[in-house]
Amino acid sequence: MRNAAVKEEKAWRFVMPITKARQAETTMSNADKSADKSIGVRGLRRGSRILMSPFKRACEKYLGVITAVATDKPVLALTFDDGPHPEYTPALLEILAKYRARATFFMIGELAVQHPDVVRATAQAGHTIANHSWSHLSFPLMTGRERCEQLRRCDEALTPYGAKLFRPPYCHQTPASRWHTLRSGYDVVGFSAHAEDWLARPSAWMRKRLVGQARPGSIVILHDNIHRSVLPLAQHDRKPMLVALDHALEQLRESFSFVTVPELLRMGRPIREQWYRRELANMRPALERHLMEQRRPEEARIAL
Ligand SMILES: [Zn+2]
Repeated sequence: MRNAAVKEEKAWRFVMPITKARQAETTMSNADKSADKSIGVRGLRRGSRILMSPFKRACEKYLGVITAVATDKPVLALTFDDGPHPEYTPALLEILAKYRARATFFMIGELAVQHPDVVRATAQAGHTIANHSWSHLSFPLMTGRERCEQLRRCDEALTPYGAKLFRPPYCHQTPASRWHTLRSGYDVVGFSAHAEDWLARPSAWMRKRLVGQARPGSIVILHDNIHRSVLPLAQHDRKPMLVALDHALEQLRESFSFVTVPELLRMGRPIREQWYRRELANMRPALERHLMEQRRPEEARIAL
């Protein structure tokens, strides 16, 4: 149990973006380092950095994931993934209303069509509704056509409420999948703060973490549902998260106000990072099974 939690923690640390250049520096051998001392190599490296920097800036601008907003204003953007859920989402809406908090909900299309009343109530309460794909499959495992179809079907399910913002399922993303979301007109939203609410954490631990990570312009990720979980420790029970959130907002309300992601983006400069992450080896079989269910439902049923 503990080992699995540690492994998971390490996996999420991997999410933090590492640029190719930084990666190359950290993996450079001693022999490479001495060779690097020669003026010729240093010059070449400097030259390639100068040539690459406009390209890097363009990639950051158009393909970078929004992880926070640079602002002095005391604002936080709370985001909730994997809903709507018929029980947890309405309970969450009540907590948010108590603190006059607006939030952003990254919803799943196949659940939105099952609970249209919950989608409507969320939108009518002033929250932003955004795209978290049609059925929560890992985008790097899919073809380009399947990715665009996932975005389109979810958009259709969320109409007329969906904003052109997307969070990739499991936060899995490759340059190719980012290109497909860009082509479909979506900006990708990551996060800068989380409380590991997908794991078996006590609510007091999550509350402390939420309060400790709150900074002006932060984007916080939480879950009002857990859909197509592939983690053995995933907590489908959302009550500990709801308790943690209630207590954290009680503490934070004095110093922060809580806004939607579009509101936050109007309050400062978006911080964009190159954010690429593929599925972990131990998650892959379960993710491929989900994908097979989607592609050939009949065959998947027989295989089970
Ligand atoms: Zn998700």
